[in-house]
Amino acid sequence: MVASPIDSPTLSQPPAPVAPPVYPVARSKIKRLTELLLVAGAAGRCEFCNEFLYTHPITGESGNFAENAHIVAFSTLGPRGFEDRPTDIDDVSNLMLLCARDHKLIDDHPERYTRAMLEQRKREHEARIKRVTAIGPAMQTTVVTLKVQIGSDIVHVNRREIFEALQPRYPADNPLEIDFVDIGPERSGAFYELAAERIQKNVARLYDTGGELERTGHLSVFALAPIPLLMLFGHALSNKVSTDFFQCHRTRSDNRWTWYEGDTPVRFSARQLRQGTAPHCVGLVLSVSGPFAAESLPSSIDERYTLYEIYPRDIVPHRSLIRQRDDLEAFRARYRALLAEIQQDHPGLRELHLFPAVPAPVAVTCGFDLLPKVDPTLIIYDNLATEGGFVQRLKVNLHE
Ligand SMILES: [Zn+2]
Repeated sequence: MVASPIDSPTLSQPPAPVAPPVYPVARSKIKRLTELLLVAGAAGRCEFCNEFLYTHPITGESGNFAENAHIVAFSTLGPRGFEDRPTDIDDVSNLMLLCARDHKLIDDHPERYTRAMLEQRKREHEARIKRVTAIGPAMQTTVVTLKVQIGSDIVHVNRREIFEALQPRYPADNPLEIDFVDIGPERSGAFYELAAERIQKNVARLYDTGGELERTGHLSVFALAPIPLLMLFGHALSNKVSTDFFQCHRTRSDNRWTWYEGDTPVRFSARQLRQGTAPHCVGLVLSVSGPFAAESLPSSIDERYTLYEIYPRDIVPHRSLIRQRDDLEAFRARYRALLAEIQQDHPGLRELHLFPAVPAPVAVTCGFDLLPKVDPTLIIYDNLATEGGFVQRLKVNLHE
């Protein structure tokens, strides 16, 4: 028998009915739907450490290892419980899906893990899950990269950086890497002949009927190589498939292949540098990553040659000029327009001598944007400090 404050001292009388000594307290009753919303929104992962909570991390056994944690505690005496309390304490907006370890951590130290901080953590986790899982098959892309030797370095693209740069797209399969390393250093005699063969073979495979690219309908190009090789490669690609070009930004310490965003795009202009005496002798200077110096031209480009130049407006050309997709697109638009203008001014022009100071993606698009058989053959030069200027390297868009 339990003693009661209203017990009568008179033993002969039966005790009066009493209230139970422990008052029933309200208990958290999270609705089934709320629980489903919480688990689905968190993708079954701890909203603190991102661990998946429905498989044991060591044994791999299935089970529910998740805890539904209140941000503002169910009880006013609990962690963060004194704060401006939500109308429905069991609403999904006041719950986090957590592992037991992190649940204990946040409830043991409510002063460190404040309501505002936890709400932000939940918001960020759920937004990330939403973004990542919204990617459908239409966002797949086929990735192509080059592996080359430049000087004594082997240059190839890091997979993680590709993944970062592609977002919101994602690679369909393992990137196709065209490897030029075994055909020796670029300046050896047969390099470009062998490289052209290798490009032809690999690119033909890329566009094969029934191949991955036919399924994804989108190509992403990550290429860093000597400029003439990039132009050759760009020209071998088909402009019938939607293609994105990426650049390695040396100014970034991490995720170097991710385009910058948000600045006013660079604008490009074109001008005639000089008028030559022979109508079919024409050169084009591309001053994007560095300014043009007339003394870098080979002596064969004499007074017969008319010279045109594409250059950035209101800014001096420099190595990090192309930072955004829009910068590249602005260059491409100017380049295509100038090719047409040159052909108008020089009807029947068969060959155009090209003197590029450009970053890698600009070189690729210079080849890519050439119309086969319509645009003139490009005679491509490379600016070599060791040779004191431009040296003829190869031709693309041959007409025979
Ligand atoms: Zn956790």
